[in-house]
Amino acid sequence: MTQADRAAGVLLGQACGDALGVPYEFGPALDDAFEPRMAGGGPFGFAPGEYSDDTAMAVCIAEVARSGADLTSADALDQIAQRFLDWAAGAKDVGTQTRAVFAETRHGTGPVGTRMREASQALAMAQPGRVGNGALMRTAIVALSRVRDRDATAAAARSVAMLTHADPLGLDSCVLWTEAVRVAVTTGELDLLGGLDLVPESRRERWRQWIDEATGVDPRRFDRNGYTVWALQAAWAAITWTPVPSDDPASHFAAALANAVRTGDDTDTVAAIAGGLLGARWGWSAVPLDWSRRVHGYGGHRARGLVALSLRTLNRGRIDGDGWPDAPHLDSHAYRSAPPTLVPHPHDAGVLLGTVTSPPHGCDAVISLCRIGADDVAPPGVEPIDHVEVRLVDTEDPAENPHLAHVLADVAAQVQRFRADGKTVFLHCVAAQNRTPSAAIAYSRLLGVPAEQAAAELLAVLPDARGRGLLWTTAAAVEPT
Ligand SMILES: [Mg+2]
Repeated sequence: MTQADRAAGVLLGQACGDALGVPYEFGPALDDAFEPRMAGGGPFGFAPGEYSDDTAMAVCIAEVARSGADLTSADALDQIAQRFLDWAAGAKDVGTQTRAVFAETRHGTGPVGTRMREASQALAMAQPGRVGNGALMRTAIVALSRVRDRDATAAAARSVAMLTHADPLGLDSCVLWTEAVRVAVTTGELDLLGGLDLVPESRRERWRQWIDEATGVDPRRFDRNGYTVWALQAAWAAITWTPVPSDDPASHFAAALANAVRTGDDTDTVAAIAGGLLGARWGWSAVPLDWSRRVHGYGGHRARGLVALSLRTLNRGRIDGDGWPDAPHLDSHAYRSAPPTLVPHPHDAGVLLGTVTSPPHGCDAVISLCRIGADDVAPPGVEPIDHVEVRLVDTEDPAENPHLAHVLADVAAQVQRFRADGKTVFLHCVAAQNRTPSAAIAYSRLLGVPAEQAAAELLAVLPDARGRGLLWTTAAAVEPT
């Protein structure tokens, strides 16, 4: 479960970094007091929360990797190359080297993957050592394609990078970062030096020095970061310079991404690179709900689509029995037999508590604490409502809910943010017995209601709530703000 959570964080984490960095692209370094926001804009005029080329190209890779494809195979590389070209035809922010390679690829005959690689190799020969961050920025997802095999992962990273950035240092940077993502997903460790043996011996010492130079230092030292080595250094510095708070380790995800953006220059790319690794380390559960709800972009993906791509890639195309996260509707006995509950929150009538079978609630924001079908909240043709999905499992096993206190506090904060925006909120899980009442308690606590009173008044409106257990006691411990 924890490993799946971390894998689910890879593409979503990258997309959040990307969208957070977009407004500040090519700007100066920013000071600590500056809080980056997913405000959109930037030199290419993106919408708020929209991710840019970095994640769009990662999505192109993921759309191929999601089937379980071997990313070193000619067939997979043809598909990726074609998706790159299709994306670029309508994109406003194709990088310089990538654009040059694509222009060359469009001429000529033969398999598109081969043509693209040849164009990329010719460009690398023509300007040795001048290699941008355009392959590194999209490589994190590659780590999920063969997550148990470090050599196969390195080979895949090299093959996919080769399509546009064939310079040896471009390839090395992708191999090192992809291996770090793979290790973070499988072990929960952050280790960039661990992949040194995967790059050619002649360059290992140089890479060791570059990584050492960036470890634990202010990322703003790397405020010129278009070069792939400097981009890697900036992202690694942002991750390792940001402290991991002992009382809330998962908050490192958002804090380190903010520092990646404060680096300045190619902010969206540095934060996209950092976000892929931070998402792999801390997981989907660490991604702030406020970012998760806003992020979207090429391919029509929102958070759940990015999570689905990561999980499909991890599982080589297989998905869970209930069809989540791709299925339009989830249909199981538990879902069908849930009581059709709809009651106001005891301390805020603008928040309705319910189940998957609740009657129409009329709210303009929905927080789902359980798995839900893609069309169950906003079916096709219906105006999409503000919806956020929370990774929360109805269990007493602490290992299955990473960062539980962090997640429940963020749910409560998200209810408060929606309310501050003037929205009414439907807060639900499957049967409103454990997750919904626990999240409702967390919100009461945030409003300053004493724990005992919050519990008693909640049980009065939801008499079938379990009223005990891990989620309930963790929620009751949420601190008022
Ligand atoms: Mg970009």
